[in-house]
Amino acid sequence: MKTIFEKSTGTGGMLLCDEDVNIDFIDKKFLRENPAGLPQVSELEVMRHYKELSDRNFCIEKGFYPLGSCTMKYNPKVNELLAGLEGFANLHPLAGDENSQGALELMYKLQEALKEITGMAAVSLQPAAGAHGELSGMMVIKKYFEVKGELRRKVLIPDSAHGTNPASAVECGFETIPVPSNNKGQVDIEALKGVLDKDVAAIMMTNPNTLGIYEENVLEISDLMHKNGSLLYYDGANFNAIMGYTNPGLMGFDVVHLNLHKTFATPHGGGGPGAGPIGVAPHLEEFLPAPVISFDGQKYYRNYDLKYSVGPVKAFYGNFGVLVRAYAYILMMGKNLKTASEDAVLNANYLKEKLKKAYLLPYDVPCMHEFVLSGDKQKEFGVSTLNIAKSLMDNNIHPPTVYFPLIVHEAIMIEPTESESRQRLDEFVQVMLNIAQEARTNPEKILSAPHTAPVKRIDETSAARRPDLKYNEE
Ligand SMILES: *Cc1c(COP(=O)(O)O)cnc(C)c1O
Repeated sequence: MKTIFEKSTGTGGMLLCDEDVNIDFIDKKFLRENPAGLPQVSELEVMRHYKELSDRNFCIEKGFYPLGSCTMKYNPKVNELLAGLEGFANLHPLAGDENSQGALELMYKLQEALKEITGMAAVSLQPAAGAHGELSGMMVIKKYFEVKGELRRKVLIPDSAHGTNPASAVECGFETIPVPSNNKGQVDIEALKGVLDKDVAAIMMTNPNTLGIYEENVLEISDLMHKNGSLLYYDGANFNAIMGYTNPGLMGFDVVHLNLHKTFATPHGGGGPGAGPIGVAPHLEEFLPAPVISFDGQKYYRNYDLKYSVGPVKAFYGNFGVLVRAYAYILMMGKNLKTASEDAVLNANYLKEKLKKAYLLPYDVPCMHEFVLSGDKQKEFGVSTLNIAKSLMDNNIHPPTVYFPLIVHEAIMIEPTESESRQRLDEFVQVMLNIAQEARTNPEKILSAPHTAPVKRIDETSAARRPDLKYNEE
């Protein structure tokens, strides 16, 4: 496919302003010597160009997107409409509190809703993504011990954790200690006790964990940690499994982040923008990134007055548009947030049961909103998980998350979400069963997939680090 620059005809573009507009007031040193070299194409060709690009992209509106851990649920379009309202979209971030009452009220009420949903005492909306929430949360934990005058250098991380967890802890200057899982796919309590000492600041946990399994011993773990003077960090990326049923407050956690773009319906294929608010228990309230939004009974205002605040972690107040979408989604769903979790869990268990004969299921237990298969059976015929993923693309299905979590060999991590119908799930099952069948009878076909995608097999590391936007196999 040609770039827009290659499509430029040299004529037909839009003139931004008349050439005789007086620009004498601009200092000469700021003016370009040569024209900017913008592509010149007609409006129609611009439309065709972007339509062609978007057709090459995959999105939830195009097909099933069971990308484990990422919660690719349907994002209701009314959220877009609301986030685009002029008063929200065009409000200047430097406008004073008195001129921003509507936006501040929305943020305040979102904080209140997230407090309720997480069981936490206070919330800051600033962090711009899940990983950024983790970093901010670990900064809070670090400062908490500094203020207490305790030096604690270690953070415990279960071996099923998302890679961002150890990265965030290390970024904060902690040393990470892995905790192995037991044969039920849960934190091994004895192993945890073995590494718990007075140098441990915190444990970072995901519940349900990245195997989609609920940590049954979470209360015992929180007890152990607190008795040791350590804190518990909750990675809330898997919140879609538990909304309204339980919350990290009830489980004894001290700090939580949510991925609003996952659980609370903002489109996030392609990487952003997102929002990763953090919530904290009462003893950490004064450490939150400032400002938080407060209400004095009359006015909403930006509150910078937090005694031990770790400071701002983001320019202005986070990705405001994502906050609008999340608030709209929460209001629209109301008590049905609970139903969403029910359906997400039901859908995942349905798929798991339908697929476990054809694919290896290393942890054969009831799952929460996602589950992890292994491609080991297919590997015997030379077909790897990567091949299976590529083959799904030929069936208009986005590949699941693969090779994660690391503790499952040839991992295939499937998260259907609540938005899919039984019919869609059955279609997916059929495709997966066909692939398993072909892995045995016609492996060549799977090994050479994808057959229908615009590009076939690429070196994924180079594709991410040195993207070649003109790459064309034909
Ligand atoms: C997605 C995810 C994260 C990171 O969130 P981002 O918003 O992508 O930074 C962390 N932990 C888990 C379990 C996740 O699924």
